[in-house]
Amino acid sequence: RGRLYVVATPIGNLADLSSRAREVLAEVAAIAAEDTRHTRRLLTHYGIAAELIAYHEHNEAALTPRLLERLAGGDDLALVSDAGTPLISDPGFVLVRAARQRGIRVVPIPGPSAAITALSAAGLPSDRFLFLGFPPRTAARCRSWLAGLVDEPGTLVFYESGKRAVRTLADLAAVLGGGRRAVVARELTKQFETFLVGELAELAERLAGDAEQRLGELVILVEGASGGDDAAAAREQARVLGILAEALP
Ligand code: SAM
Repeated sequence: RGRLYVVATPIGNLADLSSRAREVLAEVAAIAAEDTRHTRRLLTHYGIAAELIAYHEHNEAALTPRLLERLAGGDDLALVSDAGTPLISDPGFVLVRAARQRGIRVVPIPGPSAAITALSAAGLPSDRFLFLGFPPRTAARCRSWLAGLVDEPGTLVFYESGKRAVRTLADLAAVLGGGRRAVVARELTKQFETFLVGELAELAERLAGDAEQRLGELVILVEGASGGDDAAAAREQARVLGILAEALP
């Protein structure tokens, strides 16, 4: 029986491919890749010639049995996505679950993921966080989805494209409050890597007014409902001031 290697690849900086990932990609019988042309470029950079199989969200279900057959027949296979860690807002779950159900060994080869990379340098609480992937596309669905997160105490982590970021930040501000602290982490590990830090309403305005800040891919991080002592103190202060305002003449 072969093994299925789940291999993380760079999110923008080719030097971030681990040496273990390199070894595995060079040794497996074939690599299942989301976009074979994209992965071919990565492999060529490292001088690796490998068989590539297109494996993406549209053929995941149809192709999984064929990949399982190859694994059962003794081939080692690798699974990669276009960037970062497979299965993290990327295809692969169907294959990994099926492989495990059949007792095939699934071996993770860890590496970059935009969510963890952003969280590690954003300066928002990282002891507890909730990864949410891409928010729903329409404003109505997005807002009702966000309503369920209002009291979430952990830092919220979203994926978004630069194009949609202003809309998403506006929805976040409308539902969670424009004053929540947030960070927009853009072009991570690339030449124009940027961390914008501020309150949600402020960041929405900032991106709306600056097309450059909407280029490329980004991660939006929002502090949780209790956001540490400062936020709790601010809420308590607001509560007390409210009581005083009512009681005083
Ligand atoms: N599997 C990937 C991972 O582990 O991070 C995520 C794939 S998902 C289809 C693509 C999204 O990840 C982008 O829209 C963006 O939100 C985020 N992303 C990927 N690379 C990024 C980067 N270099 N800088 C900021 N965000 C990035």
